Parts: sequence; C-alpha cells; structure tokens
Amino acid sequence: MKIIRVEGLSKNYGTTTALRGVDLEISESEWVSIVGPSGSGKSTLLNILGGLDYPTEGKVFINGTDINSLSEDELAVFRRETIGFVFQQSHLIPYLDATENVMLAQYFHSIPDREEAEEALRRVGLGHRLHHRPSQLSGGEQQRVCIARALINNPSILLADEPTGNLDRKNTRNVLELLKTLHTQEHFTVVLVTHDPYVAEWADRLVHMEDGKVISDEPVSR
Ligand code: ADP
Ligand code: MG
Repeated sequence: MKIIRVEGLSKNYGTTTALRGVDLEISESEWVSIVGPSGSGKSTLLNILGGLDYPTEGKVFINGTDINSLSEDELAVFRRETIGFVFQQSHLIPYLDATENVMLAQYFHSIPDREEAEEALRRVGLGHRLHHRPSQLSGGEQQRVCIARALINNPSILLADEPTGNLDRKNTRNVLELLKTLHTQEHFTVVLVTHDPYVAEWADRLVHMEDGKVISDEPVSR
C-alpha cells in the first residue's frame, strides 16, 4: 500500500490557483524531493499532505485514510502521531534551551520527559549542546534541534519545507547526512521541498512542479 496517495488535488486561494490537478503516490520509506520554481505550489502541496491546509478539490489518503474526512480533533491527532514537520525557519523558542524546546513538542504530544528529549538530541549529534539556547547554536545545529523535535514521536512521515534554505553548503551537507542516517535506520518516509538541486539529489525520487502541476516524476540516478 502507498503511505501517501494524492488524487486530483487542486487548491485555489481566491483567484490564485496554487495547485491544479496533482496526482502523486509515495511508498513507505521512500525519500521524495519536490522541486520547482517559487510559486509553483510546493509548499501548498506539503501543507495539504500534513493536514495544515485543505484542498479545494481532490483527496489525500495517508495510510488509506482520507484526511479531509477527519474532524478537527482527529486531524490534530493524525498530525501529531503520523507527521513530523521541519521548516526553513527553525521556530525555536529563544529563551528555552535545546532540551526544553524538544520537551515543548513532547508536551503537545504526550508528557514532557527530559531523559527522552536529551536522548533525541543525542541522536542528532547534539549531546554537547543540550543546554544551549537557540542564539548559542549555529544555523545547522538549530535545524538539528528541529529534526529532533520533529522525530520525537517517531512519525511515519517527515515533511520538510526548504529545511536547509538558510544554511551554507557545509551545514546543509551536515543536516542532509544526519537525515540520511536517520532515514536509513528508522525507515520513515521523507517528502522534502527544495529549490536547490544539490539538496534534491539526496532523494530516491524527484518530482518537478510547475504552475501547480507535476511536470515530471522520476528516480534520482546515482
Ligand atoms: P512554492 O512553495 O512552490 O513557492 P506556494 O505553494 O507557496 O509555492 O504558492 C503557490 C501559489 O499560491 C503562489 O502564487 C502563492 O502566492 C499562492 N499562495 C500560497 N499560499 C497562499 C495563501 N495562504 N493565501 C493566498 N495565496 C497563497
Ligand atoms: Mg514554498
């Protein structure tokens, strides 16, 4: 079964059409990059996959469930149990240290657990930065905290929107190597939006969007 199945997805914002008839299937444990020019609908697609936005037309099935048939409460449960999000901006709370930022995410999912939060940070190579605040971390380290936070509940799908968009090449590579290692160990599905060809090529598969449509969909050759 496909973990993600998108059928005839369209999205209008007033008179702006962000998506026009997207069909897409993604298998469990696959790593898919979504690329395309600015304004082509990449973020809109990702947000709809994660239940942060809803389509004007079409359906999204995650693990066979039509997520738009869920109530608000069910959708909130779906998001926190199935999806991990990483964005371009790290959205960390400035006055909390790395551990506390991860514990905040635990609070909304279950129960904050310092040991577990510290373990999650060690997993992303930040064992020596547990008590640093965001301003005391490099951009790459801040994104590592975000990855720890996104994966704390062991989601089956990680949705990442330009996760390395603010990083230099070296930090980009570090973050991607980390994601690759975790993906190999833990087998979650990755859908990663980027406009950077270097980042896109870390995927198994490349989906190109233009003007709200998928214009090509092919495996990454190595
Ligand atoms: P991308 O991520 O590929 O740059 P987006 O999905 O953000 O593209 O945007 C696609 C189109 O939809 C753009 O024209 C954008 O201006 C529009 N759009 C996206 N989100 C909104 C919104 N919340 N309200 C109005 N228009 C939006
Ligand atoms: Mg975008």
